[in-house]
Amino acid sequence: MNNIGRNVVIWVIVIMAAIVVLTAFQPGGNRHAVQQLAYSDFMHDVEQHQVRSVTIREQNISGVLTNGTSFETYAPFDPAMVSSLTKAGVEVTAKPPQSNESPILRYVAAYLPIILMLGLGFMIFRQMQAGAGGRGAMGFGKSKARLLNEKQGRVTFADVAGIDEAKSELEEIVDFLKDPQKFTRLGGKIPKGVLLVGPPGTGKTLLARSVAGEANVPFFSISGSDFVEMFVGVGASRVRDMFEQGKKSAPCIIFIDEIDAVGRHRGIGLGGGNDEREQTLNQMLVEMDGFESNEGVIIIAATNRPDVLDPALLRPGRFDRQVVVPNPDVSGREKILRVHMKKLPLFSDVDPRVIARGTPGFSGADLANLVNEAALFAARQGSRSVSMAQFEQAKDKVMMGAERRSMVMTEEEKKTTAFHEGGHALCAYLTPGSDAIHKATIIPRGQALGMVMTLPEKDNISYSRKWCLARLIIAMGGRVAEEVIFGHEEVSAGASGDIKGATDIARRMVKQWGMSDRLGMVAYDNPDDVSSHMANEIDKEVRLLIDTAYDQARQLILSHIDDLHRLAEALLEYETLTGEEVGRIIRGEAISRSEDGENSLAGKKGSVPVINAPEGGLRAQTI
Ligand code: ADP
Ligand code: MG
Ligand code: ZN
Repeated sequence: MNNIGRNVVIWVIVIMAAIVVLTAFQPGGNRHAVQQLAYSDFMHDVEQHQVRSVTIREQNISGVLTNGTSFETYAPFDPAMVSSLTKAGVEVTAKPPQSNESPILRYVAAYLPIILMLGLGFMIFRQMQAGAGGRGAMGFGKSKARLLNEKQGRVTFADVAGIDEAKSELEEIVDFLKDPQKFTRLGGKIPKGVLLVGPPGTGKTLLARSVAGEANVPFFSISGSDFVEMFVGVGASRVRDMFEQGKKSAPCIIFIDEIDAVGRHRGIGLGGGNDEREQTLNQMLVEMDGFESNEGVIIIAATNRPDVLDPALLRPGRFDRQVVVPNPDVSGREKILRVHMKKLPLFSDVDPRVIARGTPGFSGADLANLVNEAALFAARQGSRSVSMAQFEQAKDKVMMGAERRSMVMTEEEKKTTAFHEGGHALCAYLTPGSDAIHKATIIPRGQALGMVMTLPEKDNISYSRKWCLARLIIAMGGRVAEEVIFGHEEVSAGASGDIKGATDIARRMVKQWGMSDRLGMVAYDNPDDVSSHMANEIDKEVRLLIDTAYDQARQLILSHIDDLHRLAEALLEYETLTGEEVGRIIRGEAISRSEDGENSLAGKKGSVPVINAPEGGLRAQTI
């Protein structure tokens, strides 16, 4: 059915409905002339034996007089009426309450809603059958899959930084799209599908758009989750539609974001919607096989879960080219920062290198966010340009959530937090193998009441056993300090984050990193391969690692209890201490503060916090 046809059908339904409703509620107009009688006149006529017969329907009374005239009247509630009528010898008929419209119209009125619903359902069904594209009547279920032509806001390779290897792998695609004939004439084989693989926010979407921008071809974008909808059959037809549109505008790029939403390994995943996904996936495979790459359509897909993708998708002739888009390294981060800083007026003290060094584990999106937050801070503070101090503030916010200075903490809670953070800081300072302390604070931020941040000298790509064990000891330090100072019964729930972090590291040490001597260099991270006996052993080993760390933290704190008191006092007084100040306090040296009590943390070159991201799990190393 085409558009016009559908519209006509809908309007016919609507008009019929209107007619039906109007006639149903119209008071009957075209009856025979009937004499309207007052009730009292009617009863008078009855007494005078001038009434031949009446029909009573509730309180409506109609009848015929002895002279043959029809009449109507409306009765008050009068229980004596019927007996008066029968006494006067009037023929009485009673009828059930009912309106006197035509029965056909009554039926139609009763079933009208259902008819309309069926009609609507039918339209929606047709819409789905007709597939995606949102070209339907009255915009029913306007499809999300409307393929976007993103010519506006063109992005080019210049906007993508820090992922040069990925970029150079895509250059060939750009060349091809610019002049497909050149390649096909030489019999060159161009991949049909390119799969961009990488963690979220590394610029996969941006990269795909920039390929289209560089080649100046249309860019159609759709998300894998758009295919997987409630209605069965939508996904597959959307795929068909998408390829159809792509071929029409070749050369072009079709970008499928989050392809894992459809491309999941068949037969895995939790109940519901699996069939639908399989159909969609199959349709995609069929379409990809059914066109030749020289038609000038290149499919670029993105995922951060290549492991769950159906192997059929990765076969030659489909997404056979994979491009890894990793989190950027130091110099990559610097370049990304520069790209985003270009749009801002910067104060002369801003050094992207320093910020880059202080943001390991940040993705491109995190860095873009950081620059944006810094600009917002600057605007809020009424500055004309963005300075290093604002970047420092922004970094803290992006890493740890916004400061919550307004959160009311009782003196008691503040004191507990000061000793807790003091304990972490003391352990971090005293444990060999730990990263240096960047700062300790008891200003609540995000979920935490306070925190100690540490920074490694360089990007951590891997973690030594020594570092892991130090991490465990530092994590225990908070709770241990509370216990030593306030007693076993008085400890707070503030250690929950520490406990989670420590357990996470200990588990990985045992299950993934082969750092348990007793369980050895065996991978235990696939639950299917681990017997219940082994699971038990793993738990014991994890527990042992943590208990040992706890004991070591306790020894450290007990033997440095005076230092802990001094640290806690300083935290209560200044709320935030730099790593250098923590060191001075532990060594018993005085700390110097400028007039306003602010330390020189913000904007200080070379002392930016570094966060590590062991396998993306533990992002900010804050305790
Ligand atoms: P992904 O698709 O990998 O999750 P996006 O492409 O959506 O990531 O990135 C989100 C935003 O982060 C981009 O719009 C851009 O502003 C910024 N960004 C991410 N990576 C980079 C990069 N390599 N260079 C410049 N900006 C980037
Ligand atoms: Mg994306
Ligand atoms: Zn803690």
